[in-house]
Amino acid sequence: MDPFGLRSRVTNSALSKQHALSPDIYDRLFDSIFFQSKEFSYWSQGNQPWQLHCYGAPGCGKTTLAAIAVRRLRESTPGRKAAPVASIFIEKDVSTSAVVFVEDLLDCIYHQLPNLGFESDHHYEQYEMACQGGESTSKRITLLRKALHSRLEPSDHTFLVLDGYDRVSEGLQVLLDCEFANLQVHRLRVMITRRVPAFEVPLWMSCDGHDCEEDRLKLYWVCKKCYKNQYDCYALCYACKEKGLKCPDDGAVYFEELYDHVDIDVSHPNDIEEYIAWDLQKEYSHLQVNSNSEDASKPQEPLAKDVMDGTDSATTLPTATEKLRKVIQSISNNAEGNITIAKLYLDNIHKHQCLDDVEKVGDRLPRNLIALFDAGMERIKQQPRTQSDIALMAISAAAEKDRGIPLASLEDWMRDAITRLPHLADAPPRSLEDVLRFANGFIIEPFSRERHVATYNQFFTFYKPAESPSSIKNTDQTGIESAEVDLTTDDGIAA
Ligand SMILES: [Zn+2]
Ligand SMILES: [Zn+2]
Repeated sequence: MDPFGLRSRVTNSALSKQHALSPDIYDRLFDSIFFQSKEFSYWSQGNQPWQLHCYGAPGCGKTTLAAIAVRRLRESTPGRKAAPVASIFIEKDVSTSAVVFVEDLLDCIYHQLPNLGFESDHHYEQYEMACQGGESTSKRITLLRKALHSRLEPSDHTFLVLDGYDRVSEGLQVLLDCEFANLQVHRLRVMITRRVPAFEVPLWMSCDGHDCEEDRLKLYWVCKKCYKNQYDCYALCYACKEKGLKCPDDGAVYFEELYDHVDIDVSHPNDIEEYIAWDLQKEYSHLQVNSNSEDASKPQEPLAKDVMDGTDSATTLPTATEKLRKVIQSISNNAEGNITIAKLYLDNIHKHQCLDDVEKVGDRLPRNLIALFDAGMERIKQQPRTQSDIALMAISAAAEKDRGIPLASLEDWMRDAITRLPHLADAPPRSLEDVLRFANGFIIEPFSRERHVATYNQFFTFYKPAESPSSIKNTDQTGIESAEVDLTTDDGIAA
């Protein structure tokens, strides 16, 4: 016995097995963008070797999406018996060492899987003995892996939904990737939600099938034998592959899916207007806000005072309905598909009982939206100084224009800053990946022919940090806190 040895398991405080969905959740929000997508539909059949990565801007509802996915995967449907599902929600920054975190995560997965054989218990007992005996982490993890493998083995496949991948450090992400690759051999099908997608140089793969127009493919097969690069290969979309098409030179035997994951952007659910209408309808139930559910026979009830605010008391129901529709449109435009931003606007409406608030945005952001951006900036600043400065500078540069700036301009900014700031010169970004990761979802690379970066919401161009400019102006004699200065100067983000 080792006096330090673990006698009973302590739950890692950063990990949770579940995320409680609030009872009034609008769970159709992600239907068309995600649950009805080809990617989810293929992945959830459980035969695909690739992981499914759902990425999206801060506050777009990824945790909710993960929780809904877990619930739906656990439901059997006609013709499909539900496979075992484990879920992990990383709810806060990890305070334990990376290896301890890996151990706790594997343990958490193990305990969520059904016991369909005796072997796994036997391996797990050995693991527990190793814990009590104070064996090394590496030995413990090896035993735990064995136990987990034997628990996965009896099932055709098992699902794992992991939310909050960006909460762990880059080093730990690499460790987790290795563990998952290892578990995938035992048919664990992994879905991850993350703010920043796994970095990749944009891919323009199109189908070579006769008469097939499919391009910008995410799901495809390539002939491995004659593959040189994305521009020089024979590729087929799923449909053409299913039709039995073959590589003209090598036949059908060398087809492979060359990717280990498939990305799906969930930042802009196209049902957001329905969500806003659904939310407002709770308060303004006498108005028909959804054109699909227009019901002319509905009795013309008197309007609530708040809807009438600023309008003539003789306003007719259609006028008020029209106003509500405009508000929905307006919130939807402002939020650009971001559910948290939409919610903040809805909160303001419910709080002030006034629909006019939304349209008064102009150059003034609602207080709660500023607080949201502030919190995001705070998190970025908690990184090591070089990283946070690079991030703040890049955000500031990207926010110069509503639609973002070309990659080449960002590089100009960065080069200029590096010549001025010696601490950045020691660890400059090595690729756009570094910049995007440090910025923690606040800048994105939109899909386009000319590569460029933009802030995740165009309102960021109006954003001024909450602190007074004087309190964050440069006072450092040795190195300029350039990014913070840029955020407040006239030609920076506040312009
Ligand atoms: Zn070929
Ligand atoms: Zn095709």
